[in-house]
This record gives sequence, structure tokens and C-alpha cells, in this order.
Amino acid sequence: MVMTCPKCGSLMIPKKDKNGKTILVCRRCGYKMKNTNKKIRIGSKIKEGEKEVIVLEKREINDNLPKTHVICPKCGNDEAYWWMQQTRSADEPPTIFYKCTKCGYQWRSYG
Ligand SMILES: [Zn+2]
Ligand SMILES: [Zn+2]
Repeated sequence: MVMTCPKCGSLMIPKKDKNGKTILVCRRCGYKMKNTNKKIRIGSKIKEGEKEVIVLEKREINDNLPKTHVICPKCGNDEAYWWMQQTRSADEPPTIFYKCTKCGYQWRSYG
């Protein structure tokens, strides 16, 4: 359930416009369209095939994300990509997300 740009075929990223509505913006050509899929929201999880994918506002997973030394709860691998994301109101600390470099499992840190 990934939205692609009708112009260039790139992935559409959900963003908020100035009215606070979620729109989809193409990261390659800047094409904008209305978010017709109600399930896609910034910070929300969508189901893509079997696994849950967290929708990122600014950058996509694996897009030059830094790696860190952390144990994957699924496969025991000790390296994962990580990124921070503001999940709720701005006065709460951002949540740290991890994605295992080996099996691709995603989890978040509540620390
Ligand atoms: Zn495009
Ligand atoms: Zn893993």
C-alpha cells in the first residue's frame, strides 16, 4: 500500500500542508496530491505486505541512516539503523526507532 507519483513513479511522502491537512508529496519531482488513502498519516504505521512500516516524514528508512550497536529483539543481530521521530506533541521527547540491519525488524525505544 505505497503511493507512487503519477508523474515520475517515485514514492510519495505524507506531509502536512499549511491548513494542517495531510497531503502526499513526491520526493523527486515535488508533485503534490491529496491524500486519498486515509490510512497514510504522518507517524502512523501502515501494513505493507506482512510487516508494519512506519511512515516517515522527512526521510525514508535505509536512506543513509546512521547505525548503532543495539541488539535486535527478533534475530539477535547487534547492529541496527536508528532515527528519531516526533510522535505526539512537540513538548514530548522524540521516540527513537531502530531497524535491524540483518532481518529488517523495526522497533522503538521508549527510553
Ligand atoms: Zn514525481
Ligand atoms: Zn534482526
